[in-house]
Amino acid sequence: MERSCFTVDLGAIRRNAETLLRAAGGAELWAVVKAEAYGHGAVDVSRAALDAGASALCVATLPEALHLRAALRNARIIVMGPVSEREIGEARAARLELVAADGHVPEGVRVHLKVDTGMGRWGLSELPAPGRDVVGLMSHLASAESDPTFTHLQVERFKEATSGHGSLTRHIANSAATLRYAEARFDAVRCGIALYGISPFDAGPEAEGLEPALRWDSYLALVKKLAPGASTGYGRRFVADRPMWIGIVPVGYADGFRRDMTGTEVLIEGTRRRVVGTISMDALAVELDDELAAGTPVTLVGNGILVEEHARVAGTIGYEIATGLNTRSGRARRVAKDG
Ligand SMILES: *Cc1c(COP(=O)(O)O)cnc(C)c1O
Repeated sequence: MERSCFTVDLGAIRRNAETLLRAAGGAELWAVVKAEAYGHGAVDVSRAALDAGASALCVATLPEALHLRAALRNARIIVMGPVSEREIGEARAARLELVAADGHVPEGVRVHLKVDTGMGRWGLSELPAPGRDVVGLMSHLASAESDPTFTHLQVERFKEATSGHGSLTRHIANSAATLRYAEARFDAVRCGIALYGISPFDAGPEAEGLEPALRWDSYLALVKKLAPGASTGYGRRFVADRPMWIGIVPVGYADGFRRDMTGTEVLIEGTRRRVVGTISMDALAVELDDELAAGTPVTLVGNGILVEEHARVAGTIGYEIATGLNTRSGRARRVAKDG
């Protein structure tokens, strides 16, 4: 049996893209598919998003873009992060678009100039006069999910910095801004997290009309009884205080089920069960009420178990849980379904 399996619902991706297009109110939707589409599979997600009306794909690195270009000959692809001198030639040959975030503007390739309006990371402090390869002007928001005052300030700065360049595509909104701030839409919105049905806010995705797209399933590889005083896992951090049943799931932190997710819940036969003890590299334990058969399915994400919940337990954000899922190294199978 497969140790675990990720299933990505491309129907949910398409419906989320349609929801975001409606929220974008006439602006173009650009699908952010960096980090293997936040762990969901970049090529499949890109196809679904384009199918639903997205008009470009955004990634962080040149290798990510080349990987997409091989599968999607005609898609518009924007590399948002820095590239080396050597990579500029490859970008040109692959018909990619680049972002200039420092004084150096690459030539002979379509470019977006990025201005820093308050993120304090990539970006020019002032926009130079756009040269003929420049097709877009952009910025990035620092706290659209939490701070309206600063978001308004960034949008105002962007408006001011880019006024008079109406012929260029202006874009600043991420998922949170697309869902909350009409004035941040400009000509295109760059949405990542919401496309995957993970909320950028504290509330769940259904509050935004979004559907989670990812399922992660495994099974009970072993079910055993603990006598009072017996423990499970490294460091003996969980000790039974009564006779009890535990199930061992063959998934651990090397798969992306992080060590700080002890205490989170998974779904077994329709019941939420608590993860107990130290999470190992390749295994975790769950508390059971009764003896269950080895082979019983366990849902780690999906069917109401949200990435956001695991993130809360781990003291992080859904982005980090999703991108940390190890879908790349063959530890888990990944399949796309069309629901
Ligand atoms: C990752 C990223 C986005 C997407 O942000 P979400 O919050 O996932 O929608 C947009 N723009 C830039 C520059 C990014 O790096």
